Amino acid sequence: MSAAPLDPPRDLAAFAGFLRERLAPLVAEHARPAEADPDDDRIAAVEELREGHEEEVARARRFQRALYEAGVAWPSGPVEFGGLGLTDAHDEVLEDVLAEMGFPSREALFVGLNIVAPALLHHAAPALREEIVPALYRAELIGCQMFSEPGAGSDLAGVATRAVRDGDHWVLTGQKVWTSMAHLADVGEVLVRTDPAAPKHAGLTMFLLDMHAPGVTVRPIRQMTGGAAFNEVFLDGVRVPDARRIGGVGEGWRVALTSLGSERSTMSGAAGPLTPQVMERVTRLIRRLGAEDDPVLRPQLARTVAAVVAMRAAANLTPGSYTHRLEPVSGSIRKMLMNRAADHIARLAQDALGEKAFVDLGEKDTYAWSEFVLGVPALHIAGGTDEIQRNVIAQRGLGLPRSAPRAS
Ligand SMILES: Cc1cc2nc3c(=O)[nH]c(=O)nc-3n(C[C@H](O)[C@H](O)[C@H](O)COP(=O)(O)OP(=O)(O)OC[C@H]3O[C@@H](n4cnc5c(N)ncnc54)[C@H](O)[C@@H]3O)c2cc1C
Repeated sequence: MSAAPLDPPRDLAAFAGFLRERLAPLVAEHARPAEADPDDDRIAAVEELREGHEEEVARARRFQRALYEAGVAWPSGPVEFGGLGLTDAHDEVLEDVLAEMGFPSREALFVGLNIVAPALLHHAAPALREEIVPALYRAELIGCQMFSEPGAGSDLAGVATRAVRDGDHWVLTGQKVWTSMAHLADVGEVLVRTDPAAPKHAGLTMFLLDMHAPGVTVRPIRQMTGGAAFNEVFLDGVRVPDARRIGGVGEGWRVALTSLGSERSTMSGAAGPLTPQVMERVTRLIRRLGAEDDPVLRPQLARTVAAVVAMRAAANLTPGSYTHRLEPVSGSIRKMLMNRAADHIARLAQDALGEKAFVDLGEKDTYAWSEFVLGVPALHIAGGTDEIQRNVIAQRGLGLPRSAPRAS
């Protein structure tokens, strides 16, 4: 942490200027402007780490550490945890400035920072919170989220992984799946069943698992985009101290909602895949192809721009405190707007490029779009599917009843 407390401006434009100045000394060591590597035309909807990504991850960790030392790693975070005590909108500005200045992707850290840290901050005992949250922000630890199971995805409260109390420890047995970054992670936020007799939402508890503990086995899963960020995780009698419980026994569902609210909001904000640079890329592509005046593509481009503007506006409509983004309904709305914008971008690129989007002819900025197009379906699933977001918006936001079974 920096020696003297920082006094950043609250005005967003002034804050962006403050960040640019504060980050300028980090450029030489950490930034890589796009023009530095003219052959790198990758564009991804889900920024997936590839095989041999160790250097990418190490780079992200070094940069995150430098960001923390510069005092600006977490604008909306509490000052006592190395944050600046500002708002979610300031986090968005930070992400924009980082992308603009060519700093590296911090995708490997996304889950720890945006899913695990909020749960700890809001529900963990002070000792656990103080030990882990700053360590995540300094990138000393990488976090993962172990919610989904083979039999529990949308129906998350149906998780079957069991935790049985044994003195001041718990013993965990079960299987998790689709665990992003588990192969890199040091700690995992794990949702388990502690009381099988209780109603399903009430029988759950959340723990912070040491991913290096005996009995934890991580197996990679390969995605259709070629990425290798997914895993399945087997827990075979893993012992977890009770001091690593996040929230009360039986309160795991409440903790999960905090993580999910933050996940949905942040992935659809500037920390997510739809950065201003992506919009610039697709616009440049249309211009390069001379398709600006095409009667089909032109209105499609306009609709794409409108969808992206709507998504960004929704992100900026939640300029409250750090806790604001945890609110489940706004997270779901934001995620749906992101998904719509991503669909528009993918469709536009695909229609403009035709077969060049999928056949590698060695031409720059053409086949590269296949990774984006193939990644978009994942956005409709990760963090809860579209149908689940609609249910959240309908039931919690609009107060509509749960759908009743149809009369036969
Ligand atoms: C890129 C990516 C990263 C992920 N990372 C993680 C991670 O790090 N940790 C983690 O725990 N999980 C992760 N997941 C898993 C993700 O949370 C689940 O895939 C998701 O919640 C859906 O669960 P499922 O795959 O079991 O599908 P299912 O729940 O089986 O759903 C199948 C279909 O049925 C529909 N459906 C189900 N229930 C309803 C309902 N009540 N009403 C209407 N329709 C319904 C769904 O919308 C979907 O279309 C990730 C997924 C992706 C794609």
